[in-house]
Order: sequence, then C-alpha cells, then structure tokens
Amino acid sequence: MSENGTRLRIRGKVQGVGFRPWVWQLAQRLGLKGDVRNDGGGVVVRLVGDAQAFIAQLADGCPPLARIDDVSEQPWHWAALPQDFTIIASAQGQMATQVVPDAATCPACLAEMNDPGHRRYRYPFINCTHCGPRFTIIRAMPYDRPATTMAEFALCPACGAEYRNPADRRFHAQPVACPACGPQVSWVAGEARAERESALRAAEASLKRGEIVAIKGLGGFHLACDAQNQTAVSDLRARKGRPAKPLAVMIPPRVADALPAGVQTLLRSPAAPIVLVEKSGMALCEAVAPGLNEVGVMLAANPLQHLLMQDLDRPLVMTSGNLNGRPPALTNDEALRDLAGIADGFLLHNRDIVQRMDDSVVRAGGEMLRRSRGFVPDALPLPPGFEDAPSLLCLGADLKNTFCLVRGGQAVLSQHLGDLNDDGALAQWRRALTAMQDLWQFTPERVVTDAHPGYRSTQLGAEMPLPQARVLHHHAHAAACMAEHGWPRDGGDVIALVLDGIGQGENGALWGGECLRVNYRDCERLGGLPAVALPGGDMAARQPWRNLLAQWLAFVPEWQSLPQASVLLDKPWQPLAKAIARGVNAPLASSAGRLFDAVSAALGCAPAQLSYEGEAACRLEALALSASAITHPLAMPVRDGELDLAAFWRGWLAWQAPDAERAWAFHDALAHGLATLAAQHARQRHISTIACSGGVLHNRLLRARLRFWLRDFTVLFPERLPAGDGAVAFGQAVIAAATFS
Ligand SMILES: [Zn+2]
Ligand SMILES: [Zn+2]
Repeated sequence: MSENGTRLRIRGKVQGVGFRPWVWQLAQRLGLKGDVRNDGGGVVVRLVGDAQAFIAQLADGCPPLARIDDVSEQPWHWAALPQDFTIIASAQGQMATQVVPDAATCPACLAEMNDPGHRRYRYPFINCTHCGPRFTIIRAMPYDRPATTMAEFALCPACGAEYRNPADRRFHAQPVACPACGPQVSWVAGEARAERESALRAAEASLKRGEIVAIKGLGGFHLACDAQNQTAVSDLRARKGRPAKPLAVMIPPRVADALPAGVQTLLRSPAAPIVLVEKSGMALCEAVAPGLNEVGVMLAANPLQHLLMQDLDRPLVMTSGNLNGRPPALTNDEALRDLAGIADGFLLHNRDIVQRMDDSVVRAGGEMLRRSRGFVPDALPLPPGFEDAPSLLCLGADLKNTFCLVRGGQAVLSQHLGDLNDDGALAQWRRALTAMQDLWQFTPERVVTDAHPGYRSTQLGAEMPLPQARVLHHHAHAAACMAEHGWPRDGGDVIALVLDGIGQGENGALWGGECLRVNYRDCERLGGLPAVALPGGDMAARQPWRNLLAQWLAFVPEWQSLPQASVLLDKPWQPLAKAIARGVNAPLASSAGRLFDAVSAALGCAPAQLSYEGEAACRLEALALSASAITHPLAMPVRDGELDLAAFWRGWLAWQAPDAERAWAFHDALAHGLATLAAQHARQRHISTIACSGGVLHNRLLRARLRFWLRDFTVLFPERLPAGDGAVAFGQAVIAAATFS
C-alpha cells in the first residue's frame, strides 16, 4: 500500500464556523482517511485516497458562515498511514482568526425552538455552530468555553454529547446550552419578579400595555416599546431625552415579506443588520422617525427576540438601552441603575456581556452606515502591495469611533464605539481594545492617530509608549475609500472629494469640503468649498441658523433686505455678526456639513437646536427627495479653484420654486460644482478615478447626483465601510502602512 497522499490548504473564512466537522463528515462519506486542523493560514487537510472527489464536493454543503477563497493542493508523504479520519485540536497561538462575528439564529435552531417536542422548545438561548454569540462572550483567548461567559454554565450530559460529536451541528459550539444547563431570563418590574417562561410572558404583557421594556441582548441592552403606539413612543423619547433622532424598529417576518427582495436578503443574512427602508407603507407612528422618509427596520437576531416577535406579532421600537448620548448598559446592574427612569420593566438574563456590540446599520442598497454586530471582528483584506504591512494600531477619530489593527495584509476594524469624550464609552473602548489585541495576539509597533491635537483619541495615542504617526482626517477618509475598493498600494494618484463636518487639515486649517489629490502616502488640497466662519465654534454644529448667518454675511451683503431674511431676523444674530467681523470665536472652515445646515435653516426645515448630529441635513435630504420637478437654473460655478457660493446664493434666493425643488436644486448644484472641480483636476493630471467620501456622502441624493455628474470617470464610494468617521481608522491604517513599510 502506498504511503503517498495529498495535503490541501484551504483559505477563507474557515475557522470557528464548523468547517473542520464539515471536512470530517465529508471524509467519512467518501471513505477517506487522514486528518484536519486549523493553522495560521486557514485549514489544512491531509488525505489518503481520492482527493479530487473531496475537493469537488467541498463547497457543497459547506457551513453557512464559512467562505472558501482558495484550495491549494500538494503531494503528502505519510510516515505512517492513518487508520481513520481525525480532527486535530487547535494548538495555542493559532486562535487569531477563529473568532467570527455574532450571527443571527439559524433556521435549524429556529425550527427546534418552535418544536414542542424538542428539549430546547422556547429556549431563549438556543444556538449552534452556525449561529449565536461569539465575540460578545469572550473574556480571554484562546476562544474556548472556559474563557467565555459560558464558563459558569456547566454542560449537561445531553449538551456535552452534542459538543463532543463531530457529526453534530453543535460540535465545539462554545455557547451551546439548553434549559437544563444554560442561561435563563428573568423579569424585574418594581417589586414584581418572574423567571423563565413567566418572565417572557410578563415582558410581553408589559409591551402590549404600551409600556417601555429594557431587554438584555447579545451586545448590550435595548429599550423596546410598541412601534404603533404613539403614546408609548413619545414616552420613550421623553424619558430617554431623545426628541427626534430616528428609532430602529424590529418587525415581524410577515412585514418583512412585503419588502423588496434585496432588503429581505440583508434582513435575513447572518449579520441581520438594521436596514433603512422607505417609511411610507410601514404602518409606524410618525414619532418613530419624525421628518424623515426612511426608517431603520430589523428582524429578530437572537432567540429571545424571535420569541417576543412571534408572541407579539407587531413592530417594536428597539433602540439602544442608554440615556441619550451615553453608551448602552452592558450589565444587569448598569441597566437597573441607568435605565430606572426610562423602563417600566426589565427582561434580564444571567449571561454576562463582555463586548459592547451595537446593531449594525445599512442602506437598502447595502451601503454600510454603522458597522458592528454581524460584521466585527471579520478581517478586512488590504489591497495589493500591503502584504508586508507592519503591526499598526490606528485610533480613528473621536465621534463614531472605531479603531483598527493592521498586520501583514489584513486589518481588523473594531465595532462602533461612539463618542470617546464620554467616560462610559471610553471604558468600553478600552475593553474592546484589549479584547481585540488579545484575539489577534497583537503587539503594535506604532500607534497612528488623527492630526487633530485636541482629539481624545490623539491624546490616548500619545500616552502609549510607541512611535507615533499622525494622519490628516480627510486623507484618511479618502484612503479608506480607496483601500475598500482594492486600490493598489502603488496605484498612483486619485482625485478625492471629501465632504464632512469638520476635520483637521493642513497648517491647522479646518476642512470639510475638499477636492484633494491623494495617494496612500500624501495628500494635496486642490480646492473645494470656500472657508466660512463657524460662529461660536462648536455651537455652530448645533444651531444651523448660525451657519446661515455666516454664509449670508460672507456671500449675500444685502441679505437683510430680502424677504427670506425673516428666518434669521428673529434670532439673536447681531452679537454673532459682530463676533464674526472681529474674528472672535469664529474659526474659518470649508465645511460641507455646515453648508447643508445653512441651506436647511434657510428653508425652515432645520430645528433651532439640533438634537442629533446631521439632523438638519437629513431633513433637507428628505425634503429634496419629495421634489416633483428636477429642472432648475442654479449653479455653483468653479472660480479660482473654489466653488462660488456667492453666485449660488444669488441665484437660489432669487429663484421662485417650491421648497422641495429648492432643496433638490441645492444638492444638484453642489454635486455639479464639485464634480466640475474634480473633473478639471483629474483631466489635467490624466487621472481617471475619483474617490468620494466623508460623512456627508451618507446623503443618498448627493451621492446619486455626484455619480451622475462624474459618469465619465471611475467613481469610488464607500460601500462596505461607512462613509463617515467609522472608517477613518482604516484609512489611517493604509496610509501609515504605506509610509512605514
Ligand atoms: Zn443555529
Ligand atoms: Zn444542556
């Protein structure tokens, strides 16, 4: 008998997803002998027998969370022929890629949960290798049950048998549990207490009564209420201190069935994100997303949520369990303390949450708005040329913070961690940073931060005893977009349009509406929006009318005599006008975000005081998308490298048209002006690719109009990563990797 065999290396998402048991089952079926194990590069299979039949069938029936990128094959000489096929346990130090994102309940588990004859009937923590919590339960590495929050739940004999059986769907599923041995729910409402099934029923009765319930999830608490009950939703808003920011809604499957096929695919994917859909036709009360034409909907993503949706069969508001602006509660004690003034009752459980993990948010077309549960900690491949990237820790920006670890050809981007200026969020940030470094067994060689010296992330980086690098905010935005699209390290220059609120530019300038020449090493400002005062500094980001005043003082000298002046004349504008004239607390910034605020204020669709970031721009976009006619006489011409806002305002103020059309025309004129500027620079330099990024690019209409006006070019928009600051750390990563390797 020959001792020759075959050695296969399988790359892709093949660790921690039940891939080795699948290989084992396939080998059994084909009568092959040998073994399978994980290693740093993926999975290695050694076989005696017909390897071609094995390879041919490998992809069919592959576990749902697995993805095979590549199978390479070489001869293997066995010292001694194996007698059967075995799964070799992972060695220490090979855990790097074994933790996958938390995944929504799989169909097989759902069927068992609804089967009265099954021992996990109506069990709110049912899971298997193909679904359930992962990253949110890990306390330490290696990822094995004793290192997770499941350690305190000793496996019962039945669960233990499943865990050890390679033919079982729960083979080595670390969170495997059942009603006999696993976590349980409980109910707390004032003096009332209930356990298990009665706890669930008590929570459901409370929601039916129009009350607000705090529900412990996988990566934090949610606050829930009946989304069709205007009083309940208004109560929730009032108690949470969240007057207007849109609320996400969990919908029953029958409601999802009526949505477009592409939306359903996203909703039903293992990541089960919040998907923004048209609000009309969703039968929700107006208070869910006031003044907007989109609403975020999601399907149940864990068994507890499935039970609630099945029993209640109605849409539920499902918003993060926090006071407005604070990070979500993670422990039962935090929830009972922090949410006492908001929730009427608490549906708790006794499995700890280690990692904060918010719900991810995507657009119906798949565009990522917030990347967390279901996507993190999946590694992001870096473009060609970055294979030897050094180990870099990149700390991102302060708002919508994510951080990024880079090593070799890969990056891991953290979950959305919110505003680092909040001490609670900072504590969650530190925990996530430690966990991610452990997970990757990561020792950074250098720390990379934003160029803004006042950012807390910049200061946190400076405290680390490591070589430092600083990256311009808008350079990072552009590079993140390029890298997402695989732009090679040595691919040369692109033209970038980077539009956001405010970021640190060159020589201390404040940028936010720039046309740049960019490669991974450097960035040059070519033009963009003119710099305009931010009256009151940070206050300008909260009160849109301040930006309208600054715009009109700069570009419309006769503004006080115009009929539209009334929107400003009832505001305390005179002291601000003096401050701007003297340059007191009125720094100059070329901010696209503040221009949107100004136009929104001019149309009267911005509140005097914003209650969430981007509110004025979101309302302006919603108004524009309701326009019936889309022809207009307006332009924002390019003059001396910058967009001529004086010409725009003159035309816009003189043009008689309905508000919706005026809103639409602003979007179009801005897109046309920016596209003209970008195209001029691209043609001069023989560049055919234009990257568009920054938080303002979350605006659908602006994106669409840029795509239209730039149709002669290859245009890159952020898609799998957010356009906003959630991707800045990734941009920092590729820039530093290009600079230091
Ligand atoms: Zn499952
Ligand atoms: Zn059990």
